[in-house]
Amino acid sequence: MSLPDNVTFLGGLGKPRVLVGYLVDGGSEAAIIETGPSKLVEEYLSRAASQLDTGRLGWSLVSHVHLDHAGGAWRAVELYPDLRVGVYERGYKHLVDPSRLAGSAREALGSVYDVWGDIRPTPPNNLVGFKDGEAVNIGSLTVRLIGAPGHAPHSAVWYLEDSRVLFSGDALGIYIDSGATRFVWPTTPPPTYDYDLAIATIGKIKKLKIDAVCFPHYGYSANVDEVFRLIDEGFDVWFEVTKQAVLDSWGTDVILEQLSKRLPITPLLKDEYLRSLILMDIRGMLDFQQKKMGVKNGYKT
Ligand SMILES: [Zn+2]
Repeated sequence: MSLPDNVTFLGGLGKPRVLVGYLVDGGSEAAIIETGPSKLVEEYLSRAASQLDTGRLGWSLVSHVHLDHAGGAWRAVELYPDLRVGVYERGYKHLVDPSRLAGSAREALGSVYDVWGDIRPTPPNNLVGFKDGEAVNIGSLTVRLIGAPGHAPHSAVWYLEDSRVLFSGDALGIYIDSGATRFVWPTTPPPTYDYDLAIATIGKIKKLKIDAVCFPHYGYSANVDEVFRLIDEGFDVWFEVTKQAVLDSWGTDVILEQLSKRLPITPLLKDEYLRSLILMDIRGMLDFQQKKMGVKNGYKT
């Protein structure tokens, strides 16, 4: 199970590990996938620099403007003034003026916000907005942005056409590979998560010819059939359990217990950071279920 020569896995970034890095090398030019949050930019850039001659890192391609993916765009540009940051056009304005984004992130994230660090404006001269389906050349390679709403309205994925590698952002969920066990849990944060759109996005992505999927959280797989089976399973479980939670007014403990019966999340709940993410994703999915069913506060918190 390996990646093609033009993609390098840069390993886990941060403590707690926030994401894993990928370097796409097109010869005359290279790109990192995501910038990561501001607190991890230096670690990410030095990891990338150890693989490259200086000056070849021309791009960072971010999947969406959540802080763990693009919160460090401003800092990356501060350190590499010629770096261009490619972003879905729907997220562009939030990187130029992140005040609204930072406000809602602080509210939704609590202590996780401090793990990621601040977001500040990215100079528009360094930002390039991409439409759904538009591509960028990284040296000899072509990487295409594909709009992937659901996780957030500004969510996208990047597809390296030459090697058929998909950089999935948060559109396909979080991939956990602990050796013996592999599973996916969908990342469904409040307040804009839309499950129906996310499922439509997965259907759209499945139509691509894909040889490997690179998840920023937390690894890659070239066993694409298995990955999409795990995605379908994880999304189904998340949907069914939270739907029942709204109907039967379950509290968080019951929801976690029911999820644990069907997905191996129990070891993750012992990790404070991952537990916060799972609880945030439960909140986002309950919000979605309530909107869909037209009920308010139908569950106990
Ligand atoms: Zn996200």
